[in-house]
Amino acid sequence: MSRFSHSHLPRETFLDFESGEDKEAIRCFQHCDKKTNILCLSQIPRICPLCRQDVTKTESLIPPFRLPSPLTKAKQNPFSVVVKPTIGNFLKDYQNSSNLHIGLTNSKGIVYDFDEHGIHVGSSSWNLCVTATLIQNITQQTLNVWDNLLNQFSQQVDWSPQRYDEEQHNCFTFVMEFFKFSQLLEAIPAATSKKEFIKEFLLPYTQKTKMYIAMYRQIAVKGYLCQPIH
Ligand SMILES: [Zn+2]
Repeated sequence: MSRFSHSHLPRETFLDFESGEDKEAIRCFQHCDKKTNILCLSQIPRICPLCRQDVTKTESLIPPFRLPSPLTKAKQNPFSVVVKPTIGNFLKDYQNSSNLHIGLTNSKGIVYDFDEHGIHVGSSSWNLCVTATLIQNITQQTLNVWDNLLNQFSQQVDWSPQRYDEEQHNCFTFVMEFFKFSQLLEAIPAATSKKEFIKEFLLPYTQKTKMYIAMYRQIAVKGYLCQPIH
């Protein structure tokens, strides 16, 4: 059971917009007021919260469309750093104090990550993650080299469960050490220090994500969110 429900409105007051894996995506539409966006999830409110008209019987100024989300599937993000909460997912479970887990994707978006159980390859739990693409212009050569290096590197004894240490030798160490090992990212200053990396690569994404999560949670409680356009 999700801990969010449309507690303010009965189930039948919503129309199913779409089902399946995109259920969590935020939709936006304008019904009667071009200065107010109405945000919702996969079920759009049947009654417009602004004019109280039935949205199935009246025309919307802008029909529902999906808002771009900062959370994507690792599979869609090759050559990237991927981040998600250690436990659960960003939308439902993440709190400011939550621990985060970090990994790297290969050319096919398969995630390599390190934790107390050692290296994981291709874990399926990376469906809602923050991603930062490391290499933009990929040549066939880079592609092969990256995948080979990532394979080689993850097989090193450094990444056995026995070597894991929550503070000193963790998922983040795996990522930063791979940057050194691969030497492919020498031109990126952020790849040389943890502090720089967080500032340059992760913070811009995490701010956007926090706003998106806050919006998602408000909608999940109420069923919709009216957002005035300034
Ligand atoms: Zn309306």
